[in-house]
Amino acid sequence: MEALVLERKDELKLRDIALVENLGPQDVRIAIRTVGVCGSDVHYYTHGGIGPFIVRNPMILGHEASGTVIETGAEVEHLCVGDRVCMEPGVPEPDSRETRLGMYNLDPKVRFWATPPDHGVLRPSVVHPAAFTFKMPDNVTFAEGAMIEPLAVGMHAVTKAGVKPGDVAAVSGAGPIGMLTALAALAGGCSHVFITDVIQQKLDLAAGLGPITPVNVREQDLSETVGELTGGAGADIVFEASGNPLAAAAVFEPLAPGGTVVYIGCPVEPVALEIVAAQAKEARILTIFRYAHIFPRALGLISSKAIDVKPLITDDFSFADSVAAFDYAVHMPPASVKVQINLPV
Ligand code: ZN
Repeated sequence: MEALVLERKDELKLRDIALVENLGPQDVRIAIRTVGVCGSDVHYYTHGGIGPFIVRNPMILGHEASGTVIETGAEVEHLCVGDRVCMEPGVPEPDSRETRLGMYNLDPKVRFWATPPDHGVLRPSVVHPAAFTFKMPDNVTFAEGAMIEPLAVGMHAVTKAGVKPGDVAAVSGAGPIGMLTALAALAGGCSHVFITDVIQQKLDLAAGLGPITPVNVREQDLSETVGELTGGAGADIVFEASGNPLAAAAVFEPLAPGGTVVYIGCPVEPVALEIVAAQAKEARILTIFRYAHIFPRALGLISSKAIDVKPLITDDFSFADSVAAFDYAVHMPPASVKVQINLPV
C-alpha cells in the first residue's frame, strides 16, 4: 500500500510499502480518514529519534487518527463495518504486570504507532485491536476524532492532578498539548487558566477558548499575573507542557503552597530543579506518560460540546501532499497549531 515513510532522518517519501496485516478474531480493519501531525512525528523526521527510540528502519509516521471500520474479526461484538472510529495508538501486552495493575500506558512492551520499530498510520488502512478502537458519536467529525489522542494527554494530566471545582491552573506552553490541557482543565472544573508562550498569535488564539488569560513570558511575569487574580496565593496546579528547560525549572514560582505540578512536556536535556523551592510549598510533583482509559471520556466531552477542539485545527493537507504537510509543520507559521492530513474517502 502507499504510505508516508520516514526512510531515515530528513528523508520522507510517499511510496509503496509491503505490509502483511492479518485480521485476528478480536481485531478490526480500519480505513484511515484523518491523521494529525504530532510534534513527535516531526521530531522523528528532523532528528531521526526521540531519546532511546531511534529510527533504524524505514517507518510509517502518524498516530493521531480516525477512520471507518471496513472489516471485523470473528469475535468483535461492539463494532460493525461502517462505524466511524478513532483509535488509541498504544497497545500493551494484556498480561503484563503494568496492565494488570491498571497502568497499561506504562507497559514497557507497549506497541505504539510511529514509535520505532512500529509503523504508524499515514496509509490507507490498518489492523487494530477492537478494544483500542472507539466508535465516535454521530456529531463528532473525523477531524475532531483525530484530536482525541492529544486531548487524552491533557485529560490524563488533569485527572492525575485531581483538579477540583474552582481550582486555578497555569499551563506553560501554548502548543497543541498546552492548549488541550487548558481546555481539559476547564472541563475538569478549573475556574480560570493561565497559559504562557512567547508566540503572541498562539496566545491570542488561546485567549478565545474560554476563561483563559494568555501570558507572553517575553513581556510579562507569570507569577505576578497569577498573583493578581489569586490575591497572591498562586495557582493550585501548574501544568508544564512546553518541554522548555527554563519553564520546567520555574514551575514552583507561580504555584500556591500545597499545590500540584504536572510535568507533561519532555525537555531534551536534564533540568536543574530547586528542590527547596518545591519543599517550601510542599509541592506535589507528578509526571505523566501518554494516558490510559481516557478516549471514551474525551469523545464524550467533544460530543457534549464541553470541549471544542475545532479552533485548534488550523491547517489541513491531502494525503498526496503529506511530505509538504510535514515540511510545513517543521517550519510552522506562528498562528498554526494543528496540521492534519486527510486520506481520500
Ligand atoms: Zn501525538
